[in-house]
Amino acid sequence: MNISNYQKEINPEIKKELLEFEDVCFEKAGKFKNEEYKKDNKNNEIIFYGLEGGRSSVSDSKSNSIGYFLKLNGKYIFLEAGIDIKKVEPKILKNIDILLISHNHPDHLGISLGNLIEIITNCGYKKKGFILAPFNPEKKGLDDYHKNQIDEFIEIKPNESKKFDNITIQALPAHHGDKKDNVGFKIKTEVEGKPLVISYTSDTAIADEKGNVYEDLINAHKNSNILMSNICSAFFSSKYERFLKKHLALIGCYILAKEIKPDILFLTHPCSVSSSKEIKEKTVSLMKKLIDIPVFFEEPKLKLKIKKDSYEVIQNKNKFIIPRK
Ligand SMILES: [Zn+2]
Ligand SMILES: [Zn+2]
Repeated sequence: MNISNYQKEINPEIKKELLEFEDVCFEKAGKFKNEEYKKDNKNNEIIFYGLEGGRSSVSDSKSNSIGYFLKLNGKYIFLEAGIDIKKVEPKILKNIDILLISHNHPDHLGISLGNLIEIITNCGYKKKGFILAPFNPEKKGLDDYHKNQIDEFIEIKPNESKKFDNITIQALPAHHGDKKDNVGFKIKTEVEGKPLVISYTSDTAIADEKGNVYEDLINAHKNSNILMSNICSAFFSSKYERFLKKHLALIGCYILAKEIKPDILFLTHPCSVSSSKEIKEKTVSLMKKLIDIPVFFEEPKLKLKIKKDSYEVIQNKNKFIIPRK
C-alpha cells in the first residue's frame, strides 16, 4: 500500500486541521533552524568557566566542570569540554569556531563528540567549526553523520601547529595518563598590535619518577604571556609524591612559573578537595610568596580582558589592572 491511500481515507474536516497544523510546525522548525545567536567581536578576553573538581565532576550533581572561553580577534575558541558545558550561554556555544580538547579523560571531554557537535552547530543546522584533539576521533566514537557537520576534526600531536587566520594553535607535550594522547596548547596571536601568547598545560606531571624535570615541558611553554597551569593539589614535597606523578601540584606550578615568567599565572583545574575557597586562597597566598607574578585561581566566571597596554582581571566585584609588556 502507498502512503497516499492512508492520507486519502481520512475525513476531510480532520484532514484540513492536519494540513493547517503541519504548516504551523514547519514555520516553527524554520525559526529554530535559522535562529541567530549574535556574535560579539568586540573585546579580547578569556572567561574561566573552569574545570573544577577533576574526575569527581562526573558523579557530582553540583559539578561545575565546563572549560575556558577565549575570544581573540573575533574568533571564538573553547578550551576543553567538561560535563557541564551546556551551562554556557548559547550565544557563545553556538558560535564556537575552534574547540580544543587536551585528552580523553572524562573531566576534559565530559560529553560525547557527537553531542558536542550538536551543540556547536545548533543541532547540525549550521555546519561549521574545527575540533583539535590528540586522538583519533573514530576510536572515540565519532560517526560520519556528525563528522560531516563540522569543517574538520584535526588530530594534533605535540609540537604540531595549525593556523586560523591570525591565530596559531600549537599542541604542546604533556606527561599524563595514557602517555601518548595528551597535549597542552599554545595560542599565539596579536592583540592591539602586540604579540600575545597564551599557554595551557592541561594535566601533566612536572618530572619523571626520579624527579628529573621534563625539559620539553618547560621549553614548550617558554615565551607565554598568560600561563594557565593545572594545579591538582597544593602538594609541595616528596612526602606526597604519589600525587605529583600525573599532575602539576603546587611544586610543579611554581617550577613552571619560575622558568616561564609569564605576565600572569592562572591556576586551573583543582581536584575536588582543592576546589574549596579556603584552600584556593591559601594556595594563591603561598604562590605569591614564592614568585613575583600576579596569580589568580580559577572560579566560575573569572574574567581576563586583554587591552592594549594592560590586562584587566575581573574577580567577583574586584578589578585588577596588570601592565602588559
Ligand atoms: Zn583532568
Ligand atoms: Zn587527565
